[in-house]
Amino acid sequence: MINLILFGPPGAGKGTQAVKLAEHFGLRHLSTGDIFRREMAEGTELGKAAKAFIEAGKLVPDDITIGMLKNNMVAHQPGTGFILDGFPRTIPQAEALDRLLSTLGASVSLVISLEVNDEELVNRLRGRALTSGRTDDADENVIRKRLEVYKNETLPLKDYYRKKGVLEDVNGMGTIEQIFSDICSRIRPLAG
Ligand code: ADP
Repeated sequence: MINLILFGPPGAGKGTQAVKLAEHFGLRHLSTGDIFRREMAEGTELGKAAKAFIEAGKLVPDDITIGMLKNNMVAHQPGTGFILDGFPRTIPQAEALDRLLSTLGASVSLVISLEVNDEELVNRLRGRALTSGRTDDADENVIRKRLEVYKNETLPLKDYYRKKGVLEDVNGMGTIEQIFSDICSRIRPLAG
């Protein structure tokens, strides 16, 4: 199994690249943001529980998020492996993921960190707000809050994965195709 994590701040391009990579390498794409938005649109209990946090730019609590990811990983038997986008976002989530993968006899193969500067991120999120219909993109204060939460709660994960020797930084400022081909060149050695 190849298990990839796409890591980076809001607006770094994780979702765009994850869709292309999932197709190219035959991996199962799991986006916690997409799953939450689907649950909210369907008005499920999970969606209702997540809504206030998401709209405030905060993280959904770990117990809810980890439970949801677990259910989705179990429901989708991995063929070749998973590509995770938006998860993990905290150390407890990363630890839960390690335990979950070890029950499948697997581990995190590679973490791609998409590097994009703050000015570019804010511009991209403002642009996305015009078309995404996402309430968390429409409000400048919520965007700032998400970037702050990223720095405080999610960025420490880079050290967690660096210590495991699976972290690779990729320049996230370029064309979608340039970035895709850079990421592919990091994955290819794993795909054998
Ligand atoms: P972004 O564009 O900010 O990366 P996502 O679509 O990945 O957005 O996620 C949208 C929102 O869903 C986040 O701001 C957060 O509230 C919630 N969310 C997504 N993934 C997680 C997670 N792993 N843990 C907690 N909350 C999450």
